[in-house]
Amino acid sequence: NYPICECNTCYEGPDCSQFSSLCVVDADGGNPLFLEPFWVKHAASSAVVVAGWHRMSYAYDSAATPLMSQELEKKIRKLHKLVGNAVSDNRFIVFGVGSTQLLAAAIYALSSNLSNPPAQIVASVPHYPVYQAQADMFRSVDFEFLGDPSLRKNTTDLSTEFIEIVTSPNNPDGQLNRPILQGSSAKTVYDHAYYWPHFTPIPAPADGDVMTFTLSKLTGHAGSRFGWALIKDEEVFKKMYMFITINSMGMSHDSQLRALKLLNVVLEGNGKEIHEFGYETMRKRWEVLRKTLSSSKRFSLQETPSHFCSFSQKVRELSPAFAWVKCEGEEEVDCTAMLLAGGIIGRGGSMFGAEKRYVRLSVLRSQDDFDILIQKLEALVSEEDGVG
Ligand code: PMP
Repeated sequence: NYPICECNTCYEGPDCSQFSSLCVVDADGGNPLFLEPFWVKHAASSAVVVAGWHRMSYAYDSAATPLMSQELEKKIRKLHKLVGNAVSDNRFIVFGVGSTQLLAAAIYALSSNLSNPPAQIVASVPHYPVYQAQADMFRSVDFEFLGDPSLRKNTTDLSTEFIEIVTSPNNPDGQLNRPILQGSSAKTVYDHAYYWPHFTPIPAPADGDVMTFTLSKLTGHAGSRFGWALIKDEEVFKKMYMFITINSMGMSHDSQLRALKLLNVVLEGNGKEIHEFGYETMRKRWEVLRKTLSSSKRFSLQETPSHFCSFSQKVRELSPAFAWVKCEGEEEVDCTAMLLAGGIIGRGGSMFGAEKRYVRLSVLRSQDDFDILIQKLEALVSEEDGVG
């Protein structure tokens, strides 16, 4: 007569209390469940109830951008001002189905009507794989994915236009990347999905021509699929807005309503609570992670330098969303396989244009997932000393 419970993959037994020797921990994917406890605490104030008759139309009443809630736009500008992570005054805003859709919209906007297509899309290695996946899938006559900006040297045609995607902080390694290419033939899209105090000190407000942000990594609501772009140039804004209109006839109003409700909670108390919660959770996880791998000769972590954070008014170390683990020793070592043998599923370096000796492990999943990851890493490190 034991209670029926659904154990997660790492526990077994009638009351899910026995650690399973067969357990494999999933440290792949960027599901940001580390923020779930914050929302459990704010369950009532963040809840959305929508009556059946509410907001049935395609459009809001605003004539200029009828697919977007103006209230939400105002909240986003207020949030950027509070956090100090981006200039939002005198910038146009476009909403999208996550920043994923906005990245496609930005590439479309910056590559259409070029005198010498296709534009070459570049992103420094290691880079987020979706940039290439999108470009390859669309097979556009206007753009193609080239890879690392250093490959530009091989491009002989001097009139080639480049679109550099600068991911800052970077996925997978959390570094505050800067553009490599300069000059009139280079345009830049800044992917700032992780430019929030949870993951990085904020040295200064970002002020790129096209910048994308997402609710996914700010509040953790990846499933709501809500992102926004801040854009300087009106023509680029119009093209991105048109892309969103033709591609999906705008953003779900239900998601916009949910985003508004969540941002109201985020903005309470000058945005301090969620950002302190997010930062403290990530900081503690990084402390544990560093300690766990500190004696390892097989595995090393990326550097996480400190910067002055204008939001917290303190010097803070990076606390990235992902650990970018390097397997030391021979260059050809398959680090993903090595970790898998120790019961850890990571994402291999080759997915990010890097070597096989690198693996990305998620630091932003649920506390359970993180704790099991640490247990597995501890076991791997103790094997090195012949203890395990
Ligand atoms: N950019 C980066 C660097 C990401 O890591 C992600 C999500 N993993 C995205 C964009 C896409 O996020 P979303 O579509 O959920 O906004």
